[in-house]
Amino acid sequence: YSEDDKADDYLFKIVLIGDSAVGKSNLLARFARNEFYPSSKSTIGVEFQTQKMDINGKEIKAQIWDTAGQERFRAVTSAYYRGAVGALLVYDICRRQTFDSIGKWLNELQTHSDMNVVTILVGNKSDLKDAREVSTAEGKALAEAQGLFFMETSALDSSNVAAAFQTVVKEIFNILS
Ligand code: GDP
Ligand code: MG
Repeated sequence: YSEDDKADDYLFKIVLIGDSAVGKSNLLARFARNEFYPSSKSTIGVEFQTQKMDINGKEIKAQIWDTAGQERFRAVTSAYYRGAVGALLVYDICRRQTFDSIGKWLNELQTHSDMNVVTILVGNKSDLKDAREVSTAEGKALAEAQGLFFMETSALDSSNVAAAFQTVVKEIFNILS
């Protein structure tokens, strides 16, 4: 039973949640495949993507779940949340309405998950500076009030995308090890 075999045992389920079109699928596409899709398309066939990560010299597999667009109908099922140990709670900094929905998503997360899920609040589309409707300070303040990590990202220009996923995975690793 080598160190390598042991490392393979780290498999963390992480869920992407937040309103429709905030950029959840593109954050995953950027992180896992370094791709970006200019137009929105729902996830087809793929429920999750597994990404190997190195945290403190240990190989960790992050199993990242994306919705198939069912958030539009408020129909994200409990199966989606089951077993999740991490979450990226995403809003669009250019649409205040998606920021106002964060409380609803937090409730949903807390209702459906049996453990304390390591969560980062993610303000996506930071590249669209001129269209910003939610300030960085507001995002930070909400995260602090709710005990969440916080980061602004851009799936378009890659800024902070890996860092957001890594923050969650590192914290889960710290808690479990
Ligand atoms: P989802 O419904 O939350 O999965 O959102 P999508 O990933 O499908 O993205 C919705 C739309 O926003 C698409 O047209 C994307 O190209 C666009 N988008 C996603 N992330 C970004 C970003 O960081 N910056 C910009 N400018 N557009 C983005
Ligand atoms: Mg999507």
